[in-house]
Amino acid sequence: MRLLAMVFAAAALSACTTTPPAATTAQAQPLPPMPLNVAMTEVFDGKALRVILCGTSSPLPDPGRAKACTIVVAGDKAYVIDTGPESWEQLQRMQFPGSRIAGIFITHFHSDHIGDLGEFRMQTMVAGRRQMLPVHGPRGVANLVAGFNLAYEEDARLRLAHHGEAVIDLASSPLVAKEFGKAFLGKLDAEEVILRDGDLTVTAFEVDHDPIRPAVGYRFDWKGRSVVISGDTALSSNFTANAKDADVLVTESLAPNLIGMAQQQMNAAGNSRAAKIMADIPDYHISPVDAAKTANEASVKLLVYTHHIPSAQVNLPPYFAGVAAIRPVNSWVIGWDGLRIDLPAGSSDVKQGELLPKPN
Ligand SMILES: [Zn+2]
Ligand SMILES: [Zn+2]
Repeated sequence: MRLLAMVFAAAALSACTTTPPAATTAQAQPLPPMPLNVAMTEVFDGKALRVILCGTSSPLPDPGRAKACTIVVAGDKAYVIDTGPESWEQLQRMQFPGSRIAGIFITHFHSDHIGDLGEFRMQTMVAGRRQMLPVHGPRGVANLVAGFNLAYEEDARLRLAHHGEAVIDLASSPLVAKEFGKAFLGKLDAEEVILRDGDLTVTAFEVDHDPIRPAVGYRFDWKGRSVVISGDTALSSNFTANAKDADVLVTESLAPNLIGMAQQQMNAAGNSRAAKIMADIPDYHISPVDAAKTANEASVKLLVYTHHIPSAQVNLPPYFAGVAAIRPVNSWVIGWDGLRIDLPAGSSDVKQGELLPKPN
């Protein structure tokens, strides 16, 4: 059903900047990728490094937000950092062109960061991807990729049988694991350049999500502009060091005051299992205030909060209590699925826009 929804969404584009090609009668000739709408034509114009949030919640439920997902667009290529559950659906709502996704970067193997990887495999193939899709990650990524490839192999064959070679290129459907981090020894002090592609350099760095190891963040540098994505981390000197002078820092956060209240409520209700989990989680996430201090210490221009814990209460005043006192107005934003940030080349501007409306 998701495939049908995507096709209908594409057909409903009101303002395409390119004319869809006429249907070919040769079944084996690959059809071109779906055309870009106006917003996406701008996103891929190569004039700026861009950030798009495609999932801003944590494992706790939130109907308006997918789990962890961020996109960085450099030139005509998009890179996805984490594929949390429902994140592909948010991209469909934006009419995001899956054929432009040139790589996926996994920060760690918690389910809220990987759940939609199979959906990305299938949907980018349907959208016109013509080469195998690299999935970058630390030790463990090969198992992850092998598992999703096995699970989705039959799905690709079934779609080929139905839609034919004009739509489905079976040979390029698989994910390909790109493991890095052999020097990541758990000292939480390592970094490694893992990709150079034209003007783009991607650096992975260890973060403190202990006892989850390896766990990494990513830094994207392109034409003098930079974006850092935290992954899941507690306050960490390596995180601060790698965020140095970034234009944008996209960071997770956990509100310890709200999680503490949730723990009390669960204990009072006799739910000791849920209360224990609430007690366990603050020590491997960063508080909103500590994230703001990190951004200040690293001289970050714009701090973007994502991976909100607890997500459903992110718009309540207690969540970000204390942040306004240490971060100037307009230098931080509570992220939502569809927030878009542009960093034009040759400029120090940081521009905010949206591809989906901000939730209430
Ligand atoms: Zn995690
Ligand atoms: Zn997480």
